[in-house]
Amino acid sequence: MALCKDFRTLSPVTPHTTEGCEECLKSGDDWMHLRLCLACGHVGCCDDSPNKHATQHYHQTKHPVIQSFEPGETWLWCYAHNQMADFNTAFGSSSRVLTDDPHQSFSSSL
Ligand SMILES: [Zn+2]
Ligand SMILES: [Zn+2]
Ligand SMILES: [Zn+2]
Repeated sequence: MALCKDFRTLSPVTPHTTEGCEECLKSGDDWMHLRLCLACGHVGCCDDSPNKHATQHYHQTKHPVIQSFEPGETWLWCYAHNQMADFNTAFGSSSRVLTDDPHQSFSSSL
């Protein structure tokens, strides 16, 4: 299955916070899991949480792609196309180009 265009135009973002859902932190609410917006670095809570701030953020901003902000989870989700992808699939092709060059100069120096 081809990745939607939103996954192909991603670049890594810096999270606004690593403390938790930034809106729940302000209001004093609880959350279940965290989601990171890959357009602006917004950190919001998942749909299992009472306030669903990650989904609210999509409806307010139309930023389509979130990444799981849970340790060890690498999946991405596009709200616009209801499509899931893996972090390494979405970002892997560009990092492979970078690692090819040092290998070539290494083998030609032998
Ligand atoms: Zn998409
Ligand atoms: Zn929240
Ligand atoms: Zn955003």
